[in-house]
Amino acid sequence: MLLKANLRLLLAQLDSLSETPYFTSQLDTYIRELREVLRALLSKVAAQPMAINEDLAHFIAHEVWRLTQFLTGSTTKQIPYEVVYAIGKAAAEWGARRLLITTAIVQEANFYFHGSRREFFNSVEQELGIKISHQPVQIALPYIYRHKPLFCVPLFHELGHFIDTSNDVVTTSLFRHPESVGPDLPDLPSSEEIAKAPDEKRKALAQVVKSHRAEYFADLISAAYVGEAAHGFLGEFIPNQAASLSHPSSASRYQLMSDFLSGKPNPILDMFQQTLSTRGLPALAVRFRLPDVDDTFGNVRPCKLESDADVFGAFAAGWGFLSRMNNKPTGLWASLPVEDIEKVTNDLIEKSIRNRMISEGWDEATNP
Ligand SMILES: [Zn+2]
Repeated sequence: MLLKANLRLLLAQLDSLSETPYFTSQLDTYIRELREVLRALLSKVAAQPMAINEDLAHFIAHEVWRLTQFLTGSTTKQIPYEVVYAIGKAAAEWGARRLLITTAIVQEANFYFHGSRREFFNSVEQELGIKISHQPVQIALPYIYRHKPLFCVPLFHELGHFIDTSNDVVTTSLFRHPESVGPDLPDLPSSEEIAKAPDEKRKALAQVVKSHRAEYFADLISAAYVGEAAHGFLGEFIPNQAASLSHPSSASRYQLMSDFLSGKPNPILDMFQQTLSTRGLPALAVRFRLPDVDDTFGNVRPCKLESDADVFGAFAAGWGFLSRMNNKPTGLWASLPVEDIEKVTNDLIEKSIRNRMISEGWDEATNP
């Protein structure tokens, strides 16, 4: 009884969401597909006897419920379109499936990235014959940062976790480079020591190695897209964190990012490069180009971004500019009140990205 009721309630909610005017055509298609899933599922559940395995029906219903939550945040006017645009561009470089990015604005000081479960799409296709065209991803960011693109930089780290889990990067790395073989990780016992540890302890350490590798990988993705801003933000957000079971120390994380950005060899980086090539994924490389913001931002004008690489580079260049003006404002910026420096820089980044979005939309409309 409850299952059928839930399916009807969800269908009603999706029906009303589909009538809100904020949706893009991709969201419209996606909602239509979810409604088809619910209708098909309802008819199978209502059949006598039930025409679908009951556990599977519950699983599908539960997932649709979760995915509906993803959508509700995207109907508000608070979506940071510019940040979502940049993250979407970066995410698109790592997967075959088209991603549909939805947003949740949260009150906590936290960023996250929720993917959707592969089993859901497979079972919907096999059992109900419905192919869902986009893979939804929900990103969450703090409310106070919704118009502060430079403070949303941690989303690129979260993107790294998403790329990892959707492609099993860290898990694959453990096949060729088990914890007992290395590379050794800073803050942890050496691989040789791990190999010699009693069974129980070795298993526990293997888990820690896995978590630390996941953080390093996410940091590398972040540095690949936003360069020094990745390091810079972390340095202000969690300046001197000691190593824990789940995270390496801040110092070790900075070291890896700075080795990567300065082209210095690092065995952890090599391990990931090998793993990525095994998985047929792009290598870790600098994926941004630094736009020259000194002239434009210096005159309080947005800068022209001509490519995706420029969009990513705007975060790195913007972060550098903000740090410099904060320390020693020059020119027009010297006359701004200190608290406005952060606001105006973030506004300029937002405007620069928005201009790029508009000109890209224009190009697509005129050269379809
Ligand atoms: Zn992380």
